[in-house]
Amino acid sequence: MTPAPHDTPSAAAPAASREACARLDEADPLAFARGRFRLPEGLIYLDGNSLGPLPTAVPAALAAVAEQEWGQGLIGSWNAADWIGLPERVGARIAPLVGAGPNEVLAADSTSINLFKLLVAALELRPERRRIVSEAGNFPTDRYLVEGVCGLLGRGHRPHWVADGADEAAIEAALDADTALLVLTQVDYRSGRKLDLARLTAAAHAAGALVIWDLAHSAGAFAVDLNGSGADFAVGCGYKYLNGGPGAPAFLFVAERWQERVAVALPGWMGHARPFGLEAAYAPAPGLRRLLVGTPPVLGLAALDAALGAWEGVGPADLTAKAQALTDTFIHLVAERLGEAAGRLVSPADASRRGAQVCYAHPEAYPLMQALIEAGVVGDFRAPDILRFGFAPLFTRYVDLADAVDRWAAVLAAGSHRQERFQVRAAVT
Ligand SMILES: *Cc1c(COP(=O)(O)O)cnc(C)c1O
Repeated sequence: MTPAPHDTPSAAAPAASREACARLDEADPLAFARGRFRLPEGLIYLDGNSLGPLPTAVPAALAAVAEQEWGQGLIGSWNAADWIGLPERVGARIAPLVGAGPNEVLAADSTSINLFKLLVAALELRPERRRIVSEAGNFPTDRYLVEGVCGLLGRGHRPHWVADGADEAAIEAALDADTALLVLTQVDYRSGRKLDLARLTAAAHAAGALVIWDLAHSAGAFAVDLNGSGADFAVGCGYKYLNGGPGAPAFLFVAERWQERVAVALPGWMGHARPFGLEAAYAPAPGLRRLLVGTPPVLGLAALDAALGAWEGVGPADLTAKAQALTDTFIHLVAERLGEAAGRLVSPADASRRGAQVCYAHPEAYPLMQALIEAGVVGDFRAPDILRFGFAPLFTRYVDLADAVDRWAAVLAAGSHRQERFQVRAAVT
């Protein structure tokens, strides 16, 4: 089949056969990391961007926390096992994955709640400005929170939505002298398009504004360099590429220069300078800890902590290179084997412009993805018509790509996605 013109991949000559893929696996400097995950036999898991798989170290670590620390140590484990320090300790393990200092990342709450806290903190640092620039296609929770914070503050803040899919130049053009804040998700959850974090951070600063980056589809997918880019604030997920488990605590980043100046939107006792002083008046803790709210979720943090062991010995440059090579190879295989039957490639053709995911728009995307999942290729569907495949560099093999495309071709050939039972939508897609 001839690939459609828009499907032209960027790489010079990516692997186009299973044998070529097997050779790429042999040469893969990250191949050692796959053994750090439990992956069901025969299943091709291309959804680590939605829920990372179980790292082999997690069940025993969770059992130890439950049996010993909780079961035997009981309340004494807050001190003896340093449960109280988990948000900072886990944050320090996430920090190198996003180019942050160990004292600049806190593991806490959900991405949404962290975003709320940082929106308020950032707006308070630009009190004379009213405009918040974001993208119309931003992830819904980001959109809702921007709107919500504007309403809640009641001081005339207003969002300015640049067009869905706007490029860096269009976003820069929206920054004006009244712009307090730029709020962006670096990798678009539907298309995988990746924004230039350093360039947009510099542009916002030049306009006198601050930036909050949502790294939900960046952290753990490729190297992120927050400090090298001069970033102010960031949030990200624990359960996607960081493999912390369903509903894992998220993280937030505050550059050291802002830490003593950020306002606290949710002044809970865990963010107090002396939580066990039980004082009547709130006094923020020094540094990042003031952004804690309530009691840390110890079991969730323990799972995330153990999961982060999977990153030992993983070089950031290898991560980025593998994300690009996996996505290039997949696009190439799909173009060769499926051509237009795959749908329309909605991810950038240039690997440096996309995260670790590849998406196709297809009119039958929902039933097709259900049929693919039944055939052992787990990706996901994103409304209205997107087939999304994530390629977590830590455990995805190149041969998985060849096998996934084979199974996709077989589904299309058999028309198995046309079955009635694949038309009904589940609660979680
Ligand atoms: C997954 C995702 C989130 C998730 O937020 P939660 O509060 O963890 O549910 C936020 N932002 C983006 C861009 C995401 O992709």
